[in-house]
Amino acid sequence: MKGWGAVCSPTAFGLPPPEDIFEQMNEMRPASEAELCEIIRAASGPLVVRGGGTRGALPAGAVLETGGLNGVTLYEPGALTLVAGAGTPVAELEALLATEGQRLAFEVPDLRGLLGREGTSTLGGVVAENASGPRRVSVGACRDFCLGVRFVDGRGEVIRNGGRVMKNVTGYDLVKLLAGSRGRLGVLTEVALKVLPRPETEATLCLSGLSDAQAVEALSAALGSPYEVTGAAHLPGQGTYLRIEGFEGSVRYRLERLRAVLASYGAGAEVASPWAAIRDVTALAGRPGDLWRLSLRPSEAPGVVARLGAEAVVYDWGGGLVWALMAPGSDVVGRLGAFSGHATCLRGGVAGPEEPPTIATLTNRLRLQFDPRGVFA
Ligand SMILES: Cc1cc2nc3c(=O)[nH]c(=O)nc-3n(C[C@H](O)[C@H](O)[C@H](O)COP(=O)(O)OP(=O)(O)OC[C@H]3O[C@@H](n4cnc5c(N)ncnc54)[C@H](O)[C@@H]3O)c2cc1C
Repeated sequence: MKGWGAVCSPTAFGLPPPEDIFEQMNEMRPASEAELCEIIRAASGPLVVRGGGTRGALPAGAVLETGGLNGVTLYEPGALTLVAGAGTPVAELEALLATEGQRLAFEVPDLRGLLGREGTSTLGGVVAENASGPRRVSVGACRDFCLGVRFVDGRGEVIRNGGRVMKNVTGYDLVKLLAGSRGRLGVLTEVALKVLPRPETEATLCLSGLSDAQAVEALSAALGSPYEVTGAAHLPGQGTYLRIEGFEGSVRYRLERLRAVLASYGAGAEVASPWAAIRDVTALAGRPGDLWRLSLRPSEAPGVVARLGAEAVVYDWGGGLVWALMAPGSDVVGRLGAFSGHATCLRGGVAGPEEPPTIATLTNRLRLQFDPRGVFA
């Protein structure tokens, strides 16, 4: 990989003007926020932000890699706070947190198997995708754990928003805006996260033989119960799964109460934890076909899935998230018809659904504000 970094700045070493350099180089790896600002200010063509590159095919443009912006700058287990550079591998953060019995509660998915990718997810990539696993139904998404961010906008200016403590919320909440922005509003350089203690134990109840409609009903009943379900998924043909976490005695008690609430759906059995596989959607990994991700109202999910005619699906978030593996070239948009939610094609697929006009207008206005020159691809 070519590196711009410390050894290659547009003004140093008598190099040609920036525009010529951009033509010659298609990968840059700034080693500091200041270098990143310099690169963005000098950019005339599109820049594509890349963290660990686990996301897959990138749009055309010069690749701006964030691996040089790494390292934990602050970790205060007592304050449940961690601050790290955007290029820090998530695995490093998880290992550090484990030493203190803590974790990233939003359960970062590892979709490399599903997407057939190599690489290592970075903190910036996860925040930019708002990547959140099964526990989202109970604790919230990645964006809900972001306390503060630093990023460089399309003018090459550093913007700080939020803070390092939970009570610090002032002005516009750009933290929420940047989470899920997929590198289109700016390049994250540092993120402050709220972390949580790992529970003492977990248990999973599996209900067997339910239709998709019955399964979503059961998941909704469980999520509406007072027993603090932290995972609610359905794998057609395999089982309907519910997770409870906490102290041993409390988990045992709540599991039994949950069984009683769900008695009309069958006795259910306690099974070994399937949550890593559900989080990483391994049921659909290594299989050819188009891959779609649907975010929708749980009550509508079984009907939508029936219309899709998918080869295989995985329901997560109580039915609010559906991963669908389709025969290559399937007309997903035509089959979906009207539904409340949105569909994203992750692999293959014909044209994806268009963004609703109101959202497209908002997106364009935000992009004009943060990236008036249209530097980010
Ligand atoms: C099409 C697609 C959709 C996905 N959707 C989801 C999802 O909805 N939920 C989920 O849990 N996982 C999702 N994933 C998986 C997710 O991308 C990875 O788990 C992980 O978040 C990516 O980390 P990374 O460091 O490899 O980022 P990359 O793969 O390098 O980049 C991912 C995205 O983040 C941007 N990005 C990376 N670093 C920065 C930064 N520092 N500043 C600003 N932008 C940056 C990139 O431009 C790109 O748009 C998706 C993957 C694909 C292919």
